[in-house]
Amino acid sequence: MTDDLDLAKLQHRLAEFAAARNWQPYHTPKNLVAALSVEAAELVEIFQWLTPDESARVMDDPGTAHRVTDEVADVLAYLLQLCEVLGIDPLAALEAKIDRNERRFPVTGERSDEDTGGT
Ligand SMILES: [Mg+2]
Repeated sequence: MTDDLDLAKLQHRLAEFAAARNWQPYHTPKNLVAALSVEAAELVEIFQWLTPDESARVMDDPGTAHRVTDEVADVLAYLLQLCEVLGIDPLAALEAKIDRNERRFPVTGERSDEDTGGT
C-alpha cells in the first residue's frame, strides 16, 4: 500500500486544489454530501448488473479496475472534503464507530446474518 501517504496531507491538498480555483463557495456541506452520493452511485453503477462471482473478480480486468479505483478516489475525496468543512476527524470517527460496533456486536462464536447490517 502507500505508507508514505497521510490522510491530513491529502485533505490539505484537496482544500488547496479547491481554493486555487475559487471553488470553496460551492463546497457547502449540502453540495459535498450530494457529490459524495453521486460518486457512490457511480461506483455502484460499475457493479450493478454483475453476478456475485463477477463482482469478486472486478479487479482482474485492468480497465474495470481503473474505473473502480477512480470512483473510490472520488468518493473518498468528497468524504474528506465533507469532513473538513464539518470539522470531523474521519479517522477518529471511524475508530469510535468500530469501538461502538465491537461493544454492540460482541463475538459470540456464532454468526448471524441479522447482525451484519444497519451500522
Ligand atoms: Mg466519479
